[in-house]
Amino acid sequence: MVSTHVAVGVLIAVVLKTYFPELPTLPLLTSGFVGGALPDLDRYGTHRSDLHYPISGAVATVLFGIVFLAYPSERAVSSVLLAGVGAFWVHSVMDIFDSPWRGAGKDKAVDNHFDGWFSPVQIVTFTQMGDWAIMIISFVVSFVVVVTRSAIFGEYIPRILIGTIIIFVVITSWYDLTHEKYNR
Ligand SMILES: [Zn+2]
Repeated sequence: MVSTHVAVGVLIAVVLKTYFPELPTLPLLTSGFVGGALPDLDRYGTHRSDLHYPISGAVATVLFGIVFLAYPSERAVSSVLLAGVGAFWVHSVMDIFDSPWRGAGKDKAVDNHFDGWFSPVQIVTFTQMGDWAIMIISFVVSFVVVVTRSAIFGEYIPRILIGTIIIFVVITSWYDLTHEKYNR
């Protein structure tokens, strides 16, 4: 699932860059990538709680979005923060649609940090078709946009992107399949 979150985070960055070509490409893509992956580092603490913020993440994303739109001269910085925070938040929301996090209980998907945990919706579950489909579609769309718009994204970014994607998908797919119950 973390590979799907990364794919969506990168896609968020690609969309931002497409609409605002002046934004810094590599910092933006890196931020989407890191923001998508970061929440699952709480696997080493209280997973789906310590770094998952489905409600306050939405508030933060809106605030960063307002700052981004309101101060065009600062967009080189604010876009990078927006992509990272947005990807971080979307990750938290996506996990609600997965199966329950068994480490927390079978009716618990993601801690909302207000009145407990959101229940699992279980529409897009880990390593099942929907999960893979979102990951592949997100990566493919990002890659096609980046390659076909090299005037915006440059010549080297597509190569860096595809190289990173291949490495990441291979590593996480292997990890997901061998550590399924831990990697939600
Ligand atoms: Zn997660």
